[in-house]
Amino acid sequence: MNPPARGAGSGLDLSGRRVLVTGGGSGIGRACVLRLAAAGGTLLVLDRDEGAAEAVADEVGGVPLVVDLGDRQALASLCEPGGPVSDVDVLVNNAGLQHVAPVEQFPPDRFALILQVMVQAPFELARAAVPHMYAQGWGRLVHVSSVHGLRASAHKSAYVAAKHAIEGLSKVLALEGGGRGVTSNTVCPGYVRTPLVEGQIAAQAQAHGLPESEVVRTVMLGASSIKRLIEPSEVAELAAYLCSEAASYANGSAFVLDGGWSAR
Ligand code: NAD
Repeated sequence: MNPPARGAGSGLDLSGRRVLVTGGGSGIGRACVLRLAAAGGTLLVLDRDEGAAEAVADEVGGVPLVVDLGDRQALASLCEPGGPVSDVDVLVNNAGLQHVAPVEQFPPDRFALILQVMVQAPFELARAAVPHMYAQGWGRLVHVSSVHGLRASAHKSAYVAAKHAIEGLSKVLALEGGGRGVTSNTVCPGYVRTPLVEGQIAAQAQAHGLPESEVVRTVMLGASSIKRLIEPSEVAELAAYLCSEAASYANGSAFVLDGGWSAR
């Protein structure tokens, strides 16, 4: 009851499929939009940043959806029956944010927002999307998690909690959907070259008095045996694989792309 996706081998044919990518206006989300559109999908580019959502949607002839997933009411409206989520065939839960502080100084509101955007929203979006996927016997749920879905780092309590939570949610979705043609998997990258991380490099270089190349190598990639950042397109390629025929038996798994970080 899990028919393969169309497209031969590891190729991917999403023609006629509606694909929703959250946080599609930047970084990994934008790369997923470009890759899945290249496979023929019709893209819904969700982002709270209106200009970014529109620009990326324009690049692929897609539809911008300007929604702040941190706004509970806006999320509820988006997920209403008959709304734009109710007939998507592929959902990529990608939107996320970071906050770095020790637990005793971590603002509770910030913790709640991170859980809202990175756990509650993926849950509500999947909840709204799966009835259509079940009805047609095919669907793909891909969640952009992180190596922090599998490993912790100090000062990232909300982010690590949220990423561990999305791993659990993905597994439950996999168990409920697998027999109905709907798979759910996570991708778990280490540090990816996105605007978010590039900003951190500059800030850390200044704070540590180190050249930027040294910050990447020793601070960010200390645990990785491959001393370079991942490109967003490499993460998007893995997400595309998970939508392909070749991955139709992959379900409830975490696909790690971390240069060996979690091999330790
Ligand atoms: P990014 O900042 O480049 O892009 C994130 C996008 O999400 C932005 O366009 C932003 O506007 C949007 N967004 C943020 N909050 C939102 C909200 N409340 N509602 C709607 N849209 C919102 O970040 P990125 O590095 O591409 O990260 C994307 C995902 O990848 C995140 O879930 C992140 O945790 C994960 N990730 C990133 C890295 C990395 O090193 N960059 C590593 C592992 C996992």
